[in-house]
Amino acid sequence: MTFDYIIVGGGTTGCLIADYLSKKNYKVAIIEKGKHSKLLNFFVEFPNGTIFTLKNKNFTKNYLCEHSKELNGRKIIWPRGECIGGSSAVNGLVYKRGHKNDFDKLSSKGFLSWEWNKIVKYYEEIEDRLKIFNYKKYQSKHREAFQHPIVEAFLKSLKKNKFNFYNSFNERLETNESQCSYYDFTLRNFKRSYSYNTFLKNNKNIKIFYQSLVSKIILKNLNATGVEFIKNKKKILINCNKEIIISAGTINSPKILQLSGIGDKRLLNSLGIKINYENNKVGTNLRDHLQTRLTYKIRSKKNFNFLKRNPLHQIKHLLEYLIFKQGAFSLGAIRAGAFVGNDHNEEKHNFQINLLLASGTIDTLDKFNGVSVSVSSLNPLSTGYIKIKSENPYEDPIIQPNYFENSLDLEKQIKGIEIIRRITQTSPFSELIEREVIPGRIIISRNDLIGFIKDFTTTIYHPTGTCKIGKEGDGVVDEQLRVWGIKNLRVCDASVFPESVTGNLVASCYLAGMVLVKDILS
Ligand SMILES: Cc1cc2nc3c(=O)[nH]c(=O)nc-3n(C[C@H](O)[C@H](O)[C@H](O)COP(=O)(O)OP(=O)(O)OC[C@H]3O[C@@H](n4cnc5c(N)ncnc54)[C@H](O)[C@@H]3O)c2cc1C
Repeated sequence: MTFDYIIVGGGTTGCLIADYLSKKNYKVAIIEKGKHSKLLNFFVEFPNGTIFTLKNKNFTKNYLCEHSKELNGRKIIWPRGECIGGSSAVNGLVYKRGHKNDFDKLSSKGFLSWEWNKIVKYYEEIEDRLKIFNYKKYQSKHREAFQHPIVEAFLKSLKKNKFNFYNSFNERLETNESQCSYYDFTLRNFKRSYSYNTFLKNNKNIKIFYQSLVSKIILKNLNATGVEFIKNKKKILINCNKEIIISAGTINSPKILQLSGIGDKRLLNSLGIKINYENNKVGTNLRDHLQTRLTYKIRSKKNFNFLKRNPLHQIKHLLEYLIFKQGAFSLGAIRAGAFVGNDHNEEKHNFQINLLLASGTIDTLDKFNGVSVSVSSLNPLSTGYIKIKSENPYEDPIIQPNYFENSLDLEKQIKGIEIIRRITQTSPFSELIEREVIPGRIIISRNDLIGFIKDFTTTIYHPTGTCKIGKEGDGVVDEQLRVWGIKNLRVCDASVFPESVTGNLVASCYLAGMVLVKDILS
């Protein structure tokens, strides 16, 4: 079998790429590790589907990181969507473009495909395709659904703390002022709008190999000519006329490069893998956004903890959703937030704050009525790595995020908690709170705060950077996402951003896909 373009991974970015290329009459194949069916799609499209999908192997794989020394030795779990649609099928629905600063940094290094004026148009095109809750175009009835007393009180308290309110975070990404807003959601008519149902569902021109694990890229004289994958325990090889695009995400894209003999010489030698192209940047520069959550017992029943304890309420809200597309289940649990910038003496958006209408963990929500407010320090300086352990494509790689390896990241997180406390102690939000449960008001001293952060901080699911854009010798891919040293091979997904993006990632993964297809099709 021969295709013009082969896409490795039918995730967030991969589905978009496949759709654009197939519409130009190219013969396109996707090879996807995960499954797909109408029933699975039903759960994915349910806005609160994450409660079913995050712990279910039909949708999600939970990777285990190595011990994080600075998180008191804890091993953090990293869920990743492993079904068609990838992580866009299981994520928290928040849609936020990257900040202008992120792309100015890239274009100032000469990577002009990423100039802000160009990419803003790509974001707009993506939003038109997703038909999402973009305030400007799709607000109307959707935004009314956001009216919620706790969210409104939270936003009022933010405003009193020098956060400028806008109707969407996607409105003013050229300023560094402190902002608060409702989130835009990847929902269309109260159903999840993800990469499969947006880009592939009605496209019959793409050959999709499901439940197929890519084991390596076939290289001949530094040319990518085909892909080897395993389906039903059989090895299959397909050939490629034009280009192969690896879009397997931040963990698996560098893994596939390493399995194909592209990577660090010492690592590949130690595993007995033939080196095709030496590049010691493959798998390095792993960055993630962390979150520390403060838990509050509240005086209102309007939270998911209450709902979880009351089966009758659940049935009522489920019916309300199924019949009228309304009620608690019609939206995600993170409704509003803030970015901390100039108005709080930060030179740029350095923290993201989220209000979650629940507390506890996804398995066990707290028994009391609770909400959580989290802070994530943005622009992290600590970097980790992904390294394969063997030639076996089924074996997970070593994932070492090295959280807080750079002490400035920890300092920022302490400051972030102080900011949260100022907000939550301001009325009207403060009036809804009965008490701060975690960490509790006795945790005030610097040492106690550090202890709390190290014990409780976890990922907010944004790993990036392991196949970063950079000049030859510094990056894994060039600005058009072509793998250095290898012809006809690109990487396009969350792994290409050298310093992550300010805020949530999905919008910028789609953006990377747009940069790539515009380059190929131009
Ligand atoms: C629980 C969770 C919540 C999140 N919440 C948000 C949010 O609210 N807002 C936001 O903007 N971002 C959020 N994110 C982050 C965002 O969704 C991801 O960063 C983004 O979707 C990643 O896209 P990607 O294309 O890089 O990879 P993915 O979408 O993960 O796609 C990779 C695909 O490759 C496939 N694959 C991997 N290895 C192989 C192989 N060897 N062979 C074949 N196929 C393979 C996988 O099955 C998968 O389908 C969240 C992520 C998670 C996990």
